[in-house]
Amino acid sequence: MDRISEGYAYHRIILDESETPCDYEFLDVNSAFEELTGLNGSEIIGKKITEILPDIRNDVFDWIEFYGKIALSGEETEIKQYSKPLDRWYRVNVYSPEKYYFVTLFTDISKDEERFRRLAENSQDLIYRYEFIPTPGFVYVNPTSTSIVGYTPEEHYNNPNLPFDLIHPKDKGTLEKYVQGLLPFDKPLELRYIHKNGQVVWIEQKSIPFYDSSGSLVALEGIGRDITQKKQIEERDNHLQKVIMGIRNVNQLIVKESNPDELIQKACDNLTETLGYYTAWIALFDEKQDVSLTASSGFNSEFEILTKQLENGNHPYCMQEALRSDVIIIIDSPLEKCIDCPLKSESSERAALCCRLQHNSHIFGVISVSVPKKYAYLEREHDMFKEVVGDIAFVLYNREIEEEKKQQEEHLLLMTRNMNDVVIETDIDGNYTYISPSHKRILGRGDELLGQNCFSKLHPDDQESAKGAFQKIVETCKENKAEYRYLHPDKGYIWLESIGTSYLKRNGEMSILINIRDITERKMAEDQAKNIAQEYETVFQGTQDSMFLVQVLENDEFQYIRTNKAHQESTGFSLEEVRGKTPRELLGKKKGDLVCANYARCVESKVPIFYEEFLTLPAGKKVWMTTLTPIIRDNDVRYIVGSSQDITGRKLAEKGLQKANKKLKETMIKANKMALQARSANKIKSEFLANTSHELRTPLNSVIGFSEILLEESMGDLNDTQKKYVSNISKSGKHLLKIINEILDLSRTESGKIEIHKEKFDLNNVFEEIREVMASQAIAKSINLQITSNENNLTVFADRRMIKQIIFNLVDNAIKFTPQNEKVSITAKISNENKILVSVSDTGIGIPENKIEEIFDPFIQVDGSTKRSYGGIGLGLSIVKKYVEMHGGDVWVESKIGEGSIFMFTLPIKQKVICFESLP
Ligand code: ADP
Repeated sequence: MDRISEGYAYHRIILDESETPCDYEFLDVNSAFEELTGLNGSEIIGKKITEILPDIRNDVFDWIEFYGKIALSGEETEIKQYSKPLDRWYRVNVYSPEKYYFVTLFTDISKDEERFRRLAENSQDLIYRYEFIPTPGFVYVNPTSTSIVGYTPEEHYNNPNLPFDLIHPKDKGTLEKYVQGLLPFDKPLELRYIHKNGQVVWIEQKSIPFYDSSGSLVALEGIGRDITQKKQIEERDNHLQKVIMGIRNVNQLIVKESNPDELIQKACDNLTETLGYYTAWIALFDEKQDVSLTASSGFNSEFEILTKQLENGNHPYCMQEALRSDVIIIIDSPLEKCIDCPLKSESSERAALCCRLQHNSHIFGVISVSVPKKYAYLEREHDMFKEVVGDIAFVLYNREIEEEKKQQEEHLLLMTRNMNDVVIETDIDGNYTYISPSHKRILGRGDELLGQNCFSKLHPDDQESAKGAFQKIVETCKENKAEYRYLHPDKGYIWLESIGTSYLKRNGEMSILINIRDITERKMAEDQAKNIAQEYETVFQGTQDSMFLVQVLENDEFQYIRTNKAHQESTGFSLEEVRGKTPRELLGKKKGDLVCANYARCVESKVPIFYEEFLTLPAGKKVWMTTLTPIIRDNDVRYIVGSSQDITGRKLAEKGLQKANKKLKETMIKANKMALQARSANKIKSEFLANTSHELRTPLNSVIGFSEILLEESMGDLNDTQKKYVSNISKSGKHLLKIINEILDLSRTESGKIEIHKEKFDLNNVFEEIREVMASQAIAKSINLQITSNENNLTVFADRRMIKQIIFNLVDNAIKFTPQNEKVSITAKISNENKILVSVSDTGIGIPENKIEEIFDPFIQVDGSTKRSYGGIGLGLSIVKKYVEMHGGDVWVESKIGEGSIFMFTLPIKQKVICFESLP
């Protein structure tokens, strides 16, 4: 036992009468015991502890009770304990070998303990030991307590209740639970204490519990760490996080919400509902910088008071400052600066951040939020506030742009709705503020009127009524119409109709928008209608016909409304006698029934009716020709206008006339019959002539042919007399053939049997052929036959035979009716109207004016007598006319008696060209 370094002692417990340990005596100790305690073994063996160390009773630790429990229960325990009487720290292992006896094995740990204290004394953390038994209180607190909670260790020792005095009210419950062992000791606990200086201190504490043998908590040893700073950062981050969430909600809101009213209210709600900001309010301006809209969140009724102040132009301090500055205004001591602000009571614990809502150079209003005062100067707080301010301002800006765009579109729509309308805008005094481009076109004046009064150009008589209508728009804000005359600079007064409405511009000013239309035409039509009515009245009264107006009543009844003078004179009824009476009342039942039947017919048919009637009236027995004209309204005949002519005299005359008419009719029928007969006779004649001419031509050709052969003397010589006679036969035959050919041609054309065969040829060639044929005739009369063609090429598309015949007939006549030694010429040229004009002129006898038209008719000759000196049967020109017309041309003559004639005809080139081009 002596060899071991641990102290060893063997004891017996001493109980009092109530069997409670009250002392113990030493039975054995070893030498290490003597060294570790400083007691002498021989002096203490058999002695009681209270005798050896009487001070033991004053030790905070109840050694006797502690050992007693082990001696009685036999439990082995180890403790680390300071012994006050020996002033040393021991680690003691205690066990009981048999009841009432106990052994202690111990070492001196005072040196370890000192080291611990040194550590504790220098620790940044608060270190303590709190004992609950026998009396609660701190047994150790390190000096760091002074800096962490502001109280010295002594102050702790003197006030065992100090932790409960310092704990933050919100954490009191937690601390109570903790010391009652209801929360685990091994988990660190974060609690708020109030520092001696009043500030909140966050302490994270961790404790080791000590229990007695019965399991009750006897002491707590622990460390408390000041985590205030960490907590503040956490709290700040938490706050900023909430602000961010609010901003995010605002961002989502602004893309959806375009109504500014809703927008600012919801924005305020979003900013406070995440608890980022305690309160938020926004005030928006109109163009005059007057507050027009407000919204708030997080206030009770105090904001309503502010709203009223804002409406009265009374801006709070923060707002004035914010409007003046482009940085965030921080109100950290509202009680000083915001004396008059109804929000200040709310703001006393908090700081306000206020900023103007601005995008580009446009200021929309201000926004103010309240934040924990400690964050009022935080850069990140400002950054986020700036962000939300920028977002709201931007959306207000966009909304305004859109609003402006919408207004412009509406304006444009109004203007373009009807291009024939004019749109003007005026202020409430009627001075032009806008004039649509159509104003100049329709009303003759444009933008030069801007600023002038819109009534100045109105007709003096219409100004008052137009101003009245305008005033009504201003007063009632309702649409109103007006019609008036306007002095057009070129047209004089024109009638205009206008519809005006009022609207509020963005700047809050009232504008009058007026749509104007020129109704001059309508007005003229109305005037015309008025004139017609007047004219009708004049006619009604002035006409020779007797006229009356009847109103249609129910049940086939009628009532006279008015009559004209003629009616009164010719019937003998005065207007007073007639007016308001029914026909039966006026004329009696029998005549009235007849008259009513006619009126009913008109009502039934709804169209004017005519009839003759025989009536005996005050003015006498008369025959009337009456017309009834219905006046229809809403598809029913409401009135009848009657017009009666006294035809008594005419009726008598008619009888005589009827007889004459009958005769005339019979004569006309006869004449028609004769005309018909004549027409068919003409056709028969033409057919007869065509047939006979054909029959005549065949033998005549033999006569001419054979006489030609005889003249050639191939059948034997002829003497002079024979030659003369045969030559006569030939000449006469040819002459006869010419006549027959003419008859044949004409009758063919008249009976429609002749066909036209067109071909392309040069007219010049035809002229040459004519020259050849006519040469002998011309030479015989010493007539100079000239052919002049201005064109090298006179290609026509025509019936060559017919054209040749035309020219031949004209030249033949020209030579025939021209004396010897005179001149006949043929000319051709292309005339302006794209026609070829051919003229055959002579210096012959000419044609009297009264025959000019006729000579183109068949068988017409100027000298039709049997003693006439020129041959021919009067068909040549009719053939010319027919042929020319068949080619779509014209023929005519200009002539003077004794001077000569020019026969001209045209051939359309167009026709030729078209036909030519259409050839394959
Ligand atoms: P015809 O020559 O056979 O009598 P036309 O029909 O050719 O028949 O002419 C009708 C009439 O027009 C002629 O009889 C003549 O009186 C008149 N006439 C025609 N050509 C001329 C002319 N160049 N100069 C004068 N008179 C003419």
